Amino acid sequence: MNFLPLIERKREGDTLSAGELRAVVAEFTAGRIPDYQMAAFLMAVFFRGLNRDETTALTLAMRDSGETLRFPKDPHPLVDKHSTGGVGDKVSLPLAPLLACLGFRVPMISGRGLGITGGTLDKLESIPGFRTALDAGEVVEIVQRVGCVICGQTDRMVPADKKMYALRDATGTVPSIPLIVASILSKKLAEDLHALVLDVKFGCAAFMQTLPQARQLARAMVELGNACGVNTRALLTNMNTPLGRAAGNWLEVRESVACLENRGPNDLRELVLSCAAHLLVQTGRAKSLAAARSRADECLRSGAPRRKWDEMLAAQGADLTAFRRKLAADSTAPVVRELHADRAGWMARCDARCIGEVVRDLGGGRFTKESLIHPEVGVDHLAKPGDRVARGDVLARVHAADARSAEAACDRLRGAFRITPGKPRPEPLIKGIVR
Ligand code: URA
Repeated sequence: MNFLPLIERKREGDTLSAGELRAVVAEFTAGRIPDYQMAAFLMAVFFRGLNRDETTALTLAMRDSGETLRFPKDPHPLVDKHSTGGVGDKVSLPLAPLLACLGFRVPMISGRGLGITGGTLDKLESIPGFRTALDAGEVVEIVQRVGCVICGQTDRMVPADKKMYALRDATGTVPSIPLIVASILSKKLAEDLHALVLDVKFGCAAFMQTLPQARQLARAMVELGNACGVNTRALLTNMNTPLGRAAGNWLEVRESVACLENRGPNDLRELVLSCAAHLLVQTGRAKSLAAARSRADECLRSGAPRRKWDEMLAAQGADLTAFRRKLAADSTAPVVRELHADRAGWMARCDARCIGEVVRDLGGGRFTKESLIHPEVGVDHLAKPGDRVARGDVLARVHAADARSAEAACDRLRGAFRITPGKPRPEPLIKGIVR
């Protein structure tokens, strides 16, 4: 295939046909388009966009680039959730076992970290032995037996997204509405779902920085998801502040377990329960959001999702003894440093972008496709807006690979916090719903 004319046409703002986009995806997936040409194409799409028909064609071509999941008929609805990405966003981890305990089947195909946002797969791979690369047969078998799976795109399942995702991350082409729509929905439409809830983030650490941009992205995904037969909704959620009090791969696994043990932070619990409640309503299993939320809350309190989590881990190859040993340690990074408040007052800002950049630079994220993640680094014990702070209180704990990077991180983190004499007005976590 001579790809150059298509790159040039998109660069000039032309519309490409469904056949042309299918060919691009098939040729790139087969390794017959080099990364440098695909990167140029992605940049052309970034600037010129794709119209609705092009976005649909790209999404379906990506979905069909590999095996898709097919489940035997049974009374348990297949559901999933996906986030556009944020700092400290670990919702998928506690949510998958909670949904399984609420009677759903959850075949969650997730992604790796993109930019400064963390990736579910990178987090899970900090668990000793945990396998995220499963083939379609294994996913179906585990979902039928356990109720939930969290795995990745592979060379056989949505391989086009696996390759494009890594390339976008390294070429500054992530924050593009059609590319995000195609990336997320290609994975979700490969799952044979009945219902999908999307967490579309807005704010300083989100790909969509403003609420109107996030709403536009949410509308595009909700419309396409529903048009493809999946009952789809989106929550618009705040990403000016990290979710929870920890960011960094292993630290987020620990916080997810705390959430499953009913000791986690309130905002994380709130979002987990809201996603579950919407899915209960979307699938007709609850009449109102309020009733659905209290059912989800009761289920989480029962401890069953915590046990389901261990079952899912074991099914995906984790060494539960090593996992428990790791959980018992307060820190697994070589160096830990605390950042202290230099005055008393109220926490008014905890800047998610700054924290995401610090975690990435500590080794928790990638700069290039080949970068290796350091799973143990990150920050926890974060002070959050609305917290009362005394002079000398811990604002954050840095987990680092060495003393130098720990000191540098502490210096930079100081700028992430603003302490004011008066109590700040709280920003709502969930700002809207797109149905
Ligand atoms: N999550 C995805 O899976 N893809 C994107 O493009 C952004 C977030």
